[in-house]
Amino acid sequence: MAAEIFYDADADLSIIQGRKVAVIGYGSQGHAHALNLRDSGVDVRVGLPEGSKSRSKATDEGLRVVTPAEAAAEADVIMVLTPDHVQRHVYAEAIESNLTAGKALAFGHGFNIRYGYIKPPADVDVIMIAPKGPGHLVRREFVNGKGVPDLIAVEQDASGGAQALALSYASAIGGARAGVIKTTFPEETETDLFGEQAVLCGGMSRLVQLGFETLVNAGYQPEIAYFECLHELKLIVDLMYEGGIAKQRWSVSDTAEYGDYVSGPRVIDEHAAQQMQGVLKDIQDGTFARRFIADQDAGAPEFKQFRTEQEQHPIEETGRKLRGLMSWVAADDDYSGTAAR
Ligand code: NAD
Ligand code: MG
Ligand code: MG
Ligand code: MG
Ligand code: MG
Repeated sequence: MAAEIFYDADADLSIIQGRKVAVIGYGSQGHAHALNLRDSGVDVRVGLPEGSKSRSKATDEGLRVVTPAEAAAEADVIMVLTPDHVQRHVYAEAIESNLTAGKALAFGHGFNIRYGYIKPPADVDVIMIAPKGPGHLVRREFVNGKGVPDLIAVEQDASGGAQALALSYASAIGGARAGVIKTTFPEETETDLFGEQAVLCGGMSRLVQLGFETLVNAGYQPEIAYFECLHELKLIVDLMYEGGIAKQRWSVSDTAEYGDYVSGPRVIDEHAAQQMQGVLKDIQDGTFARRFIADQDAGAPEFKQFRTEQEQHPIEETGRKLRGLMSWVAADDDYSGTAAR
């Protein structure tokens, strides 16, 4: 089944320009949505709790900041962009009582609807506008006259205009410049979790660490191992982004290309394929979601332990040292360390 793809010409920007939008949360996605909407002529307010560190960032940009409950009461399109594990609490405390008939509840990821943590009333639209890229890119591309592709989905169409509203919103944040693909809440949620766990974040991080460990344990210098297994990854990914795996293979030496064919399937073998099936099953049947939420509800002990352990992997220390020596790498280690989060 071929995907349905929409562009600016298919969207009616005036729909979202005629609504009042609340963006709840001002993190990676929230700041990008709020600023892009504002610059597209949309009446937007940001909802953040009193004392939130994000408040001054939003007011510094000239945005109006109110509490999440005030934002939800004022607005008729309420976009929820807090962390996924916080959303059901914000919904219960600030949104539910203000979500009157005819309003629209919107998400940037389908987690809470797909797993039933939020159950909206039947008389509102429930839509998703999910940029397929980090929030900082969503803002940067928009400012440069470009956009990050979006997925849109409709879970509930009480108004009869839910899809047109989602497409209009996508156009306002720049997504329809790049292309908007229609999906469903289950498809977006399950594929997003699978992609980040098996390939983009989990799979890639572990592959890099294992390669580094294998070389260092065999007596090679950590600095060399860092270059071979992490630093060069960016060049490879850029080629894949531009022209697929095929362009990457075209660009590397014939030696590297032949080694790719011989050793790639040896490392990422049938066992990895079976494990991917298991990861997907845990996403589909809710096992992963329950584990994540239970840990968060307990104060995230497992999450914090993983984070602390992983930050101590030797590749991180080697990397900090080397990035400091490479003036041409826009090193950005300020994010780092648990304390900064
Ligand atoms: P984030 O962690 O970067 O930011 C969360 C924001 O929510 C912060 O401004 C925080 O102050 C605020 N917040 C926390 N508790 C709050 C509360 N009780 N009330 C109001 N605001 C509160 O989050 P994020 O990574 O932008 O993720 C937001 C949503 O976007 C999630 O559903 C996520 O899955 C989705 N998403 C994120 C990305 C990304 O690039 N990070 C990409 C696609 C989709
Ligand atoms: Mg994040
Ligand atoms: Mg995700
Ligand atoms: Mg090489
Ligand atoms: Mg070649």
